[in-house]
Amino acid sequence: MRSIDHFIGGRPVAGTSGQFGDVFDPNTGAVQARVQMATTAELDSAIANAVEAQKGWAATNPQRRARVMFEFKRLLEVHMDELAHMLSAEHGKVIADSRGDIMRGLEVIEFACGIPHLLKGEYTQGAGPGIDVWSARQPLGVVAGITPFNFPAMIPMWMFGPAIACGNAFILKPSERDPSVPVRLAELMLEAGAPAGVLNVVQGGKEIVEAILRHPSIKAVSFVGSSDIAQSVYALGALHGKRVQAMGGAKNHGIVLPDADMDQTVADLMGAAYGSAGERCMALPVVVPVGQGTAERLREALLPAIESLRVGVSTDADAHYGPVISAAHKAKIEGYIQMGVDEGAELVVDGRGFSLQGHEDGFFLAPTLFDRVTPEMRTYQEEIFGPVLQIVRAATFEEALSLPSKHQYGNGVSIFTRDGDAARTFADQVEVGMVGINVPIPVPVAYHSFGGWKRSGFGDLNQYGLDGVRFYTRTKTVTQRWPRRDGSGVSDQSFVIPTMR
Ligand code: NAD
Repeated sequence: MRSIDHFIGGRPVAGTSGQFGDVFDPNTGAVQARVQMATTAELDSAIANAVEAQKGWAATNPQRRARVMFEFKRLLEVHMDELAHMLSAEHGKVIADSRGDIMRGLEVIEFACGIPHLLKGEYTQGAGPGIDVWSARQPLGVVAGITPFNFPAMIPMWMFGPAIACGNAFILKPSERDPSVPVRLAELMLEAGAPAGVLNVVQGGKEIVEAILRHPSIKAVSFVGSSDIAQSVYALGALHGKRVQAMGGAKNHGIVLPDADMDQTVADLMGAAYGSAGERCMALPVVVPVGQGTAERLREALLPAIESLRVGVSTDADAHYGPVISAAHKAKIEGYIQMGVDEGAELVVDGRGFSLQGHEDGFFLAPTLFDRVTPEMRTYQEEIFGPVLQIVRAATFEEALSLPSKHQYGNGVSIFTRDGDAARTFADQVEVGMVGINVPIPVPVAYHSFGGWKRSGFGDLNQYGLDGVRFYTRTKTVTQRWPRRDGSGVSDQSFVIPTMR
């Protein structure tokens, strides 16, 4: 059986723990590889390599570091096909979607190519007599990233792209469910010119995450995953003196006003609710039509659109989406569908019991649609993370605005309308971190930054963009005074706090 190793100090390292995680082929349900589970000694070795490599890397001028990022971007393009197939084979998303996963990461690498500009800092000449002040952004040292299964290329690159460009060394702990692409990315970074030890991959689960959070040499931790774990990562990291950003789960709403272009809205909803089998933190699993007439028109338009969706293996170029990540996750989603029925929601389309010919053991689920879901239902309050769309009917704009605002999660939200005033009011008032106006999946571009509110994000700095640069650097401010040759500007002994009066 193929073993997926760690990548430490610029080379693959087979683990010694004797413990492995199963990596499934979600299309067939079979175990296709085993991923090593690191020991703390292996983590220590990765960190020691990173500490050593970081000194020289931080001293490498920003333009040379940027050249490595440029070369890495080129290699990503050269290896796009290989990476997309590798990603789909472990995750199960269709190849076109895997390319999108890689592309959104690549865009953050493009942003990181501008690092000389982003690290320039601030300067004040003549802040006082003979006094100049400047602020510089310096790397933190060794930082770590812990990533979820659903974007095994994009999310590691959100993190290590800016972190490494800023002059840090990086320890990546990817999801144990699809760990091959992160290792391949580390190999390509080495090939691009990043010194050995600048990017290390340590495989494992909860134990190794906790060891990372406790390790004194790690200065900052980026986490993306489910909310309970994000919150505990945030707390444990802070307890150990680290800077932490921890992104959590989501339950994004799509608000449909009566004047929305219904054909376009339904087309957008299909991709946003069911694309990647609903396993996106920016998916739209809840749709809120405003008014009875809107609800009826929406439901009527959704049915044939759902009917026409094709579920298939990840290599099927005509499939809209593939299997979910694991048998356990499939069972969890089916459990939520049953719960929805038990809670009294109307099951309009039932995706359970779907079987793909020749792939009967694959983790497939057909699309599910619920109507008349209400806010007190657990299936509304919790994240399902599968191909399940819930209609929550609202009588007024105000009611529709309050639903995502009151929800425990606040990652993304979208509004579909032709009314600019309503859209503007909605964007201004809704208590959610990322808002789309006629945009179903409003993941910000690489030079803005990504982050949700409430239980979707712990910590005050978002992923990538300028926030990413701020997160992976610390500011040093230097105040200097050079006495003039003529002796002016020299002050007498003073016991008063200096001011610039
Ligand atoms: P997960 O929380 O199960 O795992 C995330 C990471 O944490 C993995 O690397 C895993 O090995 C590790 N981990 C698992 N259990 C742990 C524990 N008890 N203590 C410490 N670490 C632990 O998440 P997942 O199932 O891989 O990913 C799906 C979740 O991620 C969904 O909730 C989704 O909404 C969320 N997500 C959020 C964003 C965002 O930016 N907000 C983006 C993508 C995914």
